[in-house]
Amino acid sequence: MAVHQQINKFVQGIGASPGIVIGKAYLVERLKVRLPQKRIARSQIEEEVGRFLHAIQESQDQLREIKEKILDPEVRKHSFILDVHSMILKDEMLLQDTVDTIRKKKVNAEWALDLTLEKLDTAFKAIEDEYLRERRSDLHYVAGRIFRNLLGKRHDDITKIKGKVIVVAHDLSPADTLQMNLEHVAGFVTDIGGKVSHTAILSRSLGIPAVVGLEVATSLINGGDLLVINGETGEVVINPTEEVSQSFLERKRRTKPIGREVLKYASLPAETRDGVRVRLQANIEMVEEISSAKMHGAEGVGLYRTEILYLNRKDLPTEQEHFETYRGLVENIHPATATIRTLDIGGDKFLANYSKNNELNPALGLRAIRFSLKETEIFKAQLRGILQASVYGNLRILLPMISRVEEIRQAKAILEEMKRSLARAKIPFDEKIKIGAMIEIPSASDIADILAREVDFFSIGTNDLIQYALAVDRINEHVSYLYEPLHPAVLRIIRWVVRAGHEAGIPVAICGEMAAEPVYAVVLLGLGLDEFSMNPVSIPKVKKVLRMSRFEETRSLVEQLFQFSTASEIEAFLRNWMVKRFPGEFIERYPEESKA
Ligand code: PEP
Ligand code: MG
Repeated sequence: MAVHQQINKFVQGIGASPGIVIGKAYLVERLKVRLPQKRIARSQIEEEVGRFLHAIQESQDQLREIKEKILDPEVRKHSFILDVHSMILKDEMLLQDTVDTIRKKKVNAEWALDLTLEKLDTAFKAIEDEYLRERRSDLHYVAGRIFRNLLGKRHDDITKIKGKVIVVAHDLSPADTLQMNLEHVAGFVTDIGGKVSHTAILSRSLGIPAVVGLEVATSLINGGDLLVINGETGEVVINPTEEVSQSFLERKRRTKPIGREVLKYASLPAETRDGVRVRLQANIEMVEEISSAKMHGAEGVGLYRTEILYLNRKDLPTEQEHFETYRGLVENIHPATATIRTLDIGGDKFLANYSKNNELNPALGLRAIRFSLKETEIFKAQLRGILQASVYGNLRILLPMISRVEEIRQAKAILEEMKRSLARAKIPFDEKIKIGAMIEIPSASDIADILAREVDFFSIGTNDLIQYALAVDRINEHVSYLYEPLHPAVLRIIRWVVRAGHEAGIPVAICGEMAAEPVYAVVLLGLGLDEFSMNPVSIPKVKKVLRMSRFEETRSLVEQLFQFSTASEIEAFLRNWMVKRFPGEFIERYPEESKA
């Protein structure tokens, strides 16, 4: 039988989660459902409406069931996406428009829903905003589920994955990922997404190799094709020859022992050879992650994202819930410090009853501190919860998306007001609670010297800082080549923020994904950062490289980096430096430089 099969086809994507794996491709074709289009008689209308509403109810039940089944805390922290999907299922437009179409046009539910989707799609397309495109993919995901329920088809094509496969999808939403039996997933490959997109962050925290933003994955790859992927470099080979497979496997063999060996660095101090001590901390979203943070050697929590408290529900968390959650956090991490970031809602995360998801440009919209200062009652409840928890351990407050001094002053005024009211009620709290600013917007970094007088510490959020400084959407694969952590502008900003912080006598932390990359960590050390906060799993490898370094040499390395004009020149120099300075450590990652 003549089967057309491509052999040894190399495709380049974006390395999103490190690791080399070989496996059969499992193509997720969730949207490919053939829809029956039928006209119905007047007498069938109510039955058809009922069928549609039943499919909606079934979809809701399924999402709830999926959520209940997630026990792994690493996976569960991403489960708010299921709530977003559940909210879409309640969307007035989606429901009412479809029901109206069934009634007015006398068509079956599938056809009516398809017409609604077309309308919504046209609206989304007209906006052409990347963030909204993400919402559009959520909408399609939900619609796919409703269609399958209408058609009586089963959804669990994904859950039934058998054997180890590499899942290939156009866009893998966290909801898809959450439904898979992850024991059978060796890797992920997607058409869209960038290094800091949700799929990327999720696969990293699950430790599953992933290549995203491949653009052509689903059109080039057929189910059952053999794939070899390198989640570090973004290379994907379709149906590799034995020789190519072996060369990838050889690289994998060289990398593997390092992964295990590196864990022993977890418990050692984060101190350079010339005695400079930094703090490596964990970014977490749930108290349950503290054990992992400790196991990986975190000295405290540098970023506790509080969004999850708000996203799993329709109502708002009460002051008591805030208090109990934060108390659990500080008690568990004691005597180390927990840094609680106040609500960073907006952008791509919305609250059920406060959704401003009609913003045309949500990344620049009413998000984070802007939202908190507008919806002050929500902010106050959170601050009161934080204050009450502050006597149970060491806790500090971090304000997200600061773009001007007034925001800090207003936030501090509200905090003072809350302190006074707690004092009146004789409720104890830490009078000297520290308050810090996230530096992730260029206007904030520019006035870092001014801001430094207002706060006790800085935390640089490079995920957003790079996005805003370089005008590159952090989740858009079309511009991901421009998302350059080593861009001279980014390095200059960090250098300036550290200087401004230190001149004012306050510590400067970094809590963006950049801190989790050992090669960047060496540069960040040389730039003078005091604290590095990252996903717990990355702590040992960063600790290892920092412990092998001398602060003085990283300072002169940084001086040299500033001589270059482009990120690629800086990167090339840095690779060479790393390979020469740490022979053996980076061979598998930079084979070319190692040969030179
Ligand atoms: C950042 O922007 O770097 C950051 C740590 O915050 P988030 O990824 O939650 O926006
Ligand atoms: Mg941010």
